[in-house]
Amino acid sequence: MTETYDAIIIGAGVIGTPIAYELSKMGYKTLTVDKLPDAGEGSTSGSCAIVRAHYSTEDGVAMAYEGFKYWLDWENYLDHVKDEKGLAKYMNTGSLLIKSQGHDWQVVQKHYDAVGVKYEEWDNDTIKEKIPVADLHEHWPVRRPEDPKFFDESDKMIEGGIFCPEGGYVNDPALSAHNIMRAAEAKGATFKFNAEVVDVRTENGKVKGITLKDGTQYDAGIVVNVGGPHSAKVNQLAEGVFEGCNIKTKALRHEVMYCPSPEGYDYLNDGYHMSDGDVGCYARPEAGNLFLIGSEDPECDTRNWVDPDDFYAGRGGHGNDNVLTEEQWKAQCYRWAKRVPSLQVPNQPKGVVDLYDCSDDWIPIYDKSDLPGFYMAIGTSGNQYKNAPVVGRMMAELIDACEKGLDHDKDPFQFTYKYTGRSMNVGFFSRKREINYNSSFSVNG
Ligand SMILES: Cc1cc2nc3c(=O)[nH]c(=O)nc-3n(C[C@H](O)[C@H](O)[C@H](O)COP(=O)(O)OP(=O)(O)OC[C@H]3O[C@@H](n4cnc5c(N)ncnc54)[C@H](O)[C@@H]3O)c2cc1C
Repeated sequence: MTETYDAIIIGAGVIGTPIAYELSKMGYKTLTVDKLPDAGEGSTSGSCAIVRAHYSTEDGVAMAYEGFKYWLDWENYLDHVKDEKGLAKYMNTGSLLIKSQGHDWQVVQKHYDAVGVKYEEWDNDTIKEKIPVADLHEHWPVRRPEDPKFFDESDKMIEGGIFCPEGGYVNDPALSAHNIMRAAEAKGATFKFNAEVVDVRTENGKVKGITLKDGTQYDAGIVVNVGGPHSAKVNQLAEGVFEGCNIKTKALRHEVMYCPSPEGYDYLNDGYHMSDGDVGCYARPEAGNLFLIGSEDPECDTRNWVDPDDFYAGRGGHGNDNVLTEEQWKAQCYRWAKRVPSLQVPNQPKGVVDLYDCSDDWIPIYDKSDLPGFYMAIGTSGNQYKNAPVVGRMMAELIDACEKGLDHDKDPFQFTYKYTGRSMNVGFFSRKREINYNSSFSVNG
């Protein structure tokens, strides 16, 4: 007998698990399948899990601000479920956006005002007082160490920053997905692991179910692609879905470095998340009093598009996909050392490598598809961890509305945020949209 569900979710990452959770709370019988051994083991496990509100679009800012409220209310969100692995922790460090030519901070500030995000303007003296290890010279444009001008001295200063007291990071992103899985199970959801989907079956032009690599079939009239960096491959398993997307997705390799904090500076307890377009990097505290340093994708950094099957070949056995490249490690650490000259850059590169599921405009696709019953929450472009609980709720309501007859392409679903009460036109995330040129085309969304 083929097991039958109301909805099948492909992918148990931090985006897939909340969709399963919210659909289950609405009474849907859900099955979530993942080819890896546990929840959150895909690209979610490599996430920096930074929670900050600055995005290039007002909708982006509004969603991130809503997301922040869920992390603050984590135990309530999970309905006080127990997880044998413990609960992920949200660390509210605050978040500093450096005013620089590398960031459209004036636009962000305008969006903060429109959305009601709390912030303070910090001048350079305030930044120095709050972050004594910071050097505030301006280094624009962003360069790489191989550039002969990289080590040129600067006599100009940056112009301060915008500080949001509400912002920080989650200490264990894989664990947060696991927590949501346990919460979903408590509402009746089923999860199956080591289960790779190789086909999305259809009947009479509608979704019928999935087939796994070992031949097992599960039936459901709803299938949701939450395959992360494999999203384009999963779309290609379903008739007409890939072709029906005006915005496409592909996998981008991204490296994140760890450097010990300067001696005498307790970055872990006293530091902030920082986004610094002047040196093309972001940083947040990491356990062990480390700076975790990522690239903000400045023009000088090469974009390394990869086949996710090649990259993840070792995952599960934890293979060789976590090897940092010397050039990128140097580029990010040396750039950050311009902002924090006493940074301790180790001899041996240490860090994390993982894949962004990048859309053409670095804004996600949260949508139905051209195949009735098939939905997508993809293209998270290195910047949607923080929004995961919001996305879960929004996708569940979108799916429910479409299944009840809404033509979302013609009459886009309007979603109301739980905490801020703001209304969101979900058509903003449509697969049919033209490229949104208001985007930063970077991790900043
Ligand atoms: C290095 C890095 C840093 C980041 N930093 C931040 C940050 O600071 N803040 C922020 O907001 N966001 C950040 N992000 C982005 C964020 O982490 C992602 O948007 C989010 O984790 C994506 O979750 P997901 O569930 O879509 O994907 P994943 O976690 O990759 O889950 C997809 C799952 O689908 C499964 N799957 C795929 N194909 C199949 C198949 N055929 N059959 C069965 N299962 C399948 C995979 O095994 C995987 O487990 C970062 C991302 C990376 C890579």
